[in-house]
Amino acid sequence: MTVREDLRSAVDRLRPAVEPVARALHADPETAEEEHRSVDRLVGLLATHGFEVDRAAGEPTAFVARAGSGGTRVALCLEYDALPEIGHACGHNLIAGAGALAALALAELTEELDLTVLAVGCPAEERGGGKIPLIEAGVFADVDLAIMVHPVPDGIRLDPRGTSSQAIGQFLATYTGRAAHAAAAPHLGRNTTDAVVVAEVALALLRQQVPADHRLSANVVRSGSVPNVIPDHATIELECRAWTTEEYEALRTRVVRCLEAGALATDCELTVEPVGRPYHPLLQDDLLGALWCEALTALGLDPAAGVPLAGGSTDMGNVSHVVPALHPWVRLPGVTESLHSAGFAVAAATDAAYEVMTTAATAMAWTVAAAVADPDRVSALRARRHELYETSTSRR
Ligand SMILES: [Zn+2]
Ligand SMILES: [Zn+2]
Repeated sequence: MTVREDLRSAVDRLRPAVEPVARALHADPETAEEEHRSVDRLVGLLATHGFEVDRAAGEPTAFVARAGSGGTRVALCLEYDALPEIGHACGHNLIAGAGALAALALAELTEELDLTVLAVGCPAEERGGGKIPLIEAGVFADVDLAIMVHPVPDGIRLDPRGTSSQAIGQFLATYTGRAAHAAAAPHLGRNTTDAVVVAEVALALLRQQVPADHRLSANVVRSGSVPNVIPDHATIELECRAWTTEEYEALRTRVVRCLEAGALATDCELTVEPVGRPYHPLLQDDLLGALWCEALTALGLDPAAGVPLAGGSTDMGNVSHVVPALHPWVRLPGVTESLHSAGFAVAAATDAAYEVMTTAATAMAWTVAAAVADPDRVSALRARRHELYETSTSRR
């Protein structure tokens, strides 16, 4: 049997162990930094199949599971956080399932391929950037390649080469005012809801004065409680995005000015705190991208068909700045609902979705095997990693 056939039959054989775990993640969604039961399920699965698990990976809901001790080290990134209220509307149950399935299949060939397989449990992708502390803890040091796959609606082009994701920063703005009786002494109040209104208006006006591909969004987390008290406390959670880090930083400066306008107009105080750290734009590795497309073609999929994904951000971007990385997409057939919608959450748990998860696992395992089986490719990946390391240290 060829390596491809071995991996494909391993994926098929292991699917009955992995799919129930992915289904359980979907049925019991946990949000960023709260993914305790999800981690228990994934760690249990990996440990049962002989992986050595380190749960002290720098964050309470992160983990690193290792199989083999070969000279080429590959990381499969597993995400498993859900969104508040709408659950697995980003399909991270499929990301975790595909990553675990590919890792388990590759683990059977560690000697033949001289591999160390790392299944890296990456929490808090939706909010806070859980991969960033993992990078800083050295989890990706000496890793030759990192890969994960993300589900998307139907019609998206699958060839990841030349695509990216947007830099994003998330932050919390808090206004503090002065409470007062809304009828007896409104002139003594300093109204934080008014500060929010001014800021929202300024942000809405700003949207037409920035490039069309910039994104800024705000959600009022809390503002006052009852109409007969002038509110003295308000919190907004914001994020802004652009295709380069420089553009993102310039946008952030302008967004903060809109927030300051609210404080200035209402005589309230403003504090702005970051939520985690900014995500870098994604650098898709060309060599891995080519191997991924070859794998898809061999599985009967056309990587060139469809339209590019319009936007979005991922902390895999930060990983891609230290390790050659690939973050491709897999389409859920017939699904038109947007990511981050209740409809997509439903679509991420159908039989067809788990079929896609299995195909994605095979394609990832094949991509990794094709990269590591060829010494020239391993050398090219190491040269690229060195280049990334030089760039990231010179930036500090
Ligand atoms: Zn998402
Ligand atoms: Zn996602």
